[in-house]
Amino acid sequence: MEKYLLYINGEFRESSDGKTFDAVNPANGEVIAKISEATVEDARAAVKSARDAFDSGVWSGMAREERSRIIKQISDKINENAKQLTKLEVMDSGSTVRKAGEDVFLSAKSLNYFSKMAAVDMNENVEGLSKAGVSKNIIRREPAGVAALITPWNFPLKMAVWKIGPALAAGCCVILKPAQETSVTACELAKLIDQTDLPKGVVNIITGKGSIIGTELVSNPDVDKVGFTGSTEVGKIIMKNAAGNLKKITLECGGKSANIVLDDADMEMSVDGAVYAAFYHQGQCCEGGTRLLVHEKIYDEFIEKLKNKISLMKTGDPMDKKTDCGPVINKNQYDTVMNYIRIGKEEGAGILTGGTGTDESGFYIEPTVFINVNNKMRIAQEEIFGPVLVVIKFSDDDEAVRIANDSIFGLGGAVWSGNDERAMKIAERLRTGTVWINEYHLLSDRAPFGGYKQSGIGREFGLDGIKEYTESKHIHIDEVKDRSKKFWYDTVVPKS
Ligand code: NAD
Repeated sequence: MEKYLLYINGEFRESSDGKTFDAVNPANGEVIAKISEATVEDARAAVKSARDAFDSGVWSGMAREERSRIIKQISDKINENAKQLTKLEVMDSGSTVRKAGEDVFLSAKSLNYFSKMAAVDMNENVEGLSKAGVSKNIIRREPAGVAALITPWNFPLKMAVWKIGPALAAGCCVILKPAQETSVTACELAKLIDQTDLPKGVVNIITGKGSIIGTELVSNPDVDKVGFTGSTEVGKIIMKNAAGNLKKITLECGGKSANIVLDDADMEMSVDGAVYAAFYHQGQCCEGGTRLLVHEKIYDEFIEKLKNKISLMKTGDPMDKKTDCGPVINKNQYDTVMNYIRIGKEEGAGILTGGTGTDESGFYIEPTVFINVNNKMRIAQEEIFGPVLVVIKFSDDDEAVRIANDSIFGLGGAVWSGNDERAMKIAERLRTGTVWINEYHLLSDRAPFGGYKQSGIGREFGLDGIKEYTESKHIHIDEVKDRSKKFWYDTVVPKS
């Protein structure tokens, strides 16, 4: 059985106390690998490695084109090893093989994008800032420094590269800490990175408990920036722990996004879209369309078609290409989701379909749809993070907007309509980071992604995402040569 080691300063090493934890396949409960469990001492060693690499300028001082070439090497390595990475992602995360294949492909594609962005000169020249006249002004984009990158378990490899990519493109040196539930492909990524020309210490990858090594990374004064994706609850803890040296933080947290179907929507497409929005990766997606808002005029027909469509979904072995719904990540998550199903019933919502599960061998929950839901219910307000959809009826566009915005979250959401203008008016009023019109889950490397309200702080992707890993510096070169013409000449300086 493979034993994965920590990757610190370009070396693979055991944790300082030799401890490991198990990587468990959620499809059958089997242990698939042993993973080194880093200690606080290891986390500090990883921070020192990144700090030394950053301060030496080996990466931040490297020509942009060279940095770009090396990031592209990592992307190529992912492509070359796509088959193996896909298999491991399925076994480690319970992702269906179709989703995992797409994730690996998109991980390489994103890194390719970030490699191109690494070559872009983000510095700007601004004119006319001097009160007295002539000056040159340069607004430099400089790397933020050492970045701690902390990721969740739902899209393991993709999340890792979505953090490493922009940080490296900006010139930062990093420590990646993947979720304990799904560390395997991040460990594989360490092996691939080790085969590239990336200088040692620029990327460090350590595995272990968030409450221990995550806390250390977030509070360590040698870390300048934290890029986090995970729950809103942990996001709030991170915000507090990062305050010690006022670290820059980006938080990508939870969601409870509204998927709005208007009465003029294409019925078949919006039913398919509702299934995809809610049940992709067993509903374990932060931006998932977990609150389905359906116009009363089409409600009965829509619900009937939705039920029929879901009855065709196949739940089971994620390695089988025909499987639509694999297992949820672990027993803990299984219990959480089943508990929400119980809460929904107690709150008086009705079950349209599903509501059952088994944890005998793997953790499987049938796609579940609640009807007769009102937006005040816990199942409509809280993030369940499993294959559970709640359906709410509305009577006009204003009511749809009001219900959609009545949430502590604001991450994603969609409007399905045959009328772009009408859909656009709704999209503009939604307090959320992404709105799709007649689409769902589509994230682009070039468009910012992130949350309003308690869904997060900051944005990933695009230039905005890279800028999150930079500091801006203004350099003013004054060209007023006569001191009596300086703008401050008549202020406090004695004229003798
Ligand atoms: P989580 O918050 O439990 O853990 C996320 C990461 O934080 C893990 O690596 C964990 O080890 C680490 N961590 C835990 N406690 C920590 C601490 N005190 N200090 C530092 N690090 C700590 O989240 P999860 O259960 O892995 O993932 C599911 C959650 O992630 C959901 O809420 C989901 O909505 C959210 N998510 C958000 C996005 C987004 O882009 N907004 C994307 C995916 C998942």
